[in-house]
Amino acid sequence: RTSNTVREVADLLKSLDRVAVTTHVGADGDAIGSSAALVRLARSLGAEAVFCHREPVPNYLRWLVPGEPLTELPPDHDLLVVDTSRADRVGVDYEGTPVRLNLDHHADNPLYGEYNYVDGTAAASAQIVASLYEECGIPLDRDAATAIYTGVSTDTGGFRFRNVSPAAHELVADLLRAGVVPAEVDDRINRTGTVPQLRIVGASLANAELHGSALISTVDGEDYERTGGSELDSKESIDRLRTVAGVEVVAHLREVDGGTKGSLRSESVDVSQVANRFGGGGHRLAAGFTIKGKKPDEAKADLLDALQGVVDLGEEPGPNGGGAR
Ligand code: 5GP
Ligand code: MN
Ligand code: MN
Repeated sequence: RTSNTVREVADLLKSLDRVAVTTHVGADGDAIGSSAALVRLARSLGAEAVFCHREPVPNYLRWLVPGEPLTELPPDHDLLVVDTSRADRVGVDYEGTPVRLNLDHHADNPLYGEYNYVDGTAAASAQIVASLYEECGIPLDRDAATAIYTGVSTDTGGFRFRNVSPAAHELVADLLRAGVVPAEVDDRINRTGTVPQLRIVGASLANAELHGSALISTVDGEDYERTGGSELDSKESIDRLRTVAGVEVVAHLREVDGGTKGSLRSESVDVSQVANRFGGGGHRLAAGFTIKGKKPDEAKADLLDALQGVVDLGEEPGPNGGGAR
C-alpha cells in the first residue's frame, strides 16, 4: 500500500457530495486547523461538509470551527480524517464506515484509509491541505489561509522545531499574502489562557525531576484539584521542560481516568520507539502514549525502564537527578 498522489486525492474530493471531516482525539492546532481548512475546501468544491468530533474543541481553537461539532457521524457522508496517525485515534465512532481519505503527516501512519495522502516531510497536516487547494485550483481565502497558518505555526512551535522546511516558509509567505495576520493568530492561540491553566503548568514544572539527561514532569488528580487546571492544560509545560540545557529527552506524565497519558519530546533520540513500547507512537522527536491503570508516579518507573539504553539516565536516578544543572 502506498500513499495516493495529490492529483488522485484532488479528484476524489471533487467527486464527493457530502463529507464529514474529523481528526484525532486530544485535538491540537494542526488537527483543528487542517480540519477547518479541509471543510472549507470541500465546500468550495460544491460538497456539503461538516466537522465531527466526540470531544469538545479546546477553547483556544473554537474560533476555527464555529458552532458545536457533530458528536456522531451523520449518515451518507464520506469520512475524511486528518492529522491522525492511527485508526484508533480517530475522533468519532465510525464502525462500519470506511475512512474514505486519511490525510496526515505522521511518518508512521499505516495508511488505514481507502485513499491515503501521507507526507512525513510536511511540517503539518495543514501544509498538505494547502497543497490540495493548489491542486484543486481553489484560491486560499483569508479564513482558509488562517486555519492553515494555525496548523503550521502550532505544529512547528512557532517555526522553531526540526520539521520546519523551506516549503513550510514558502507556504507561509503565500498565507500572509492571502491576508493572515500572525499577531492575531498568536493572540487567539497564546493569549486566551486562565490563571488555573497557568497554575497547573506551574505545578507540572515544580514536579519536574532530572534523571541524567531526561527531565520528567508529572501531574495528578490532586494537582488538578488544587490548581483548578485540567490535564490538557498541564501539557503546555512540556515546552518549558525543553528549555533546560543538556536535556535530551523530556517527558510529561499526566493522570487521565486513573491512568497516565505521556508526552515525549527530544532533540536527538527517536522517542516514537519509546512510546511504541507502551502501544503509543507519533513522530521521531514528538510522541505520546497511554498507560492504563497506573498513576503518573508509578508510570514514571515504567518510563524510566523504557528509557534505559535510549538516553543517559545518570548514575543514581532520584529527585533532581544528581546533575549539577
Ligand atoms: P502529544 O504529546 O502532543 O499528545 O503527541 C505528540 C505526537 O505523538 C503527536 O503526533 C501524536 O499524534 C502522537 N501521539 C500522542 N499520543 C499518542 C498515542 O497514544 N498513540 C499514538 N499512536 N500516537 C500518539
Ligand atoms: Mn495533531
Ligand atoms: Mn500535525
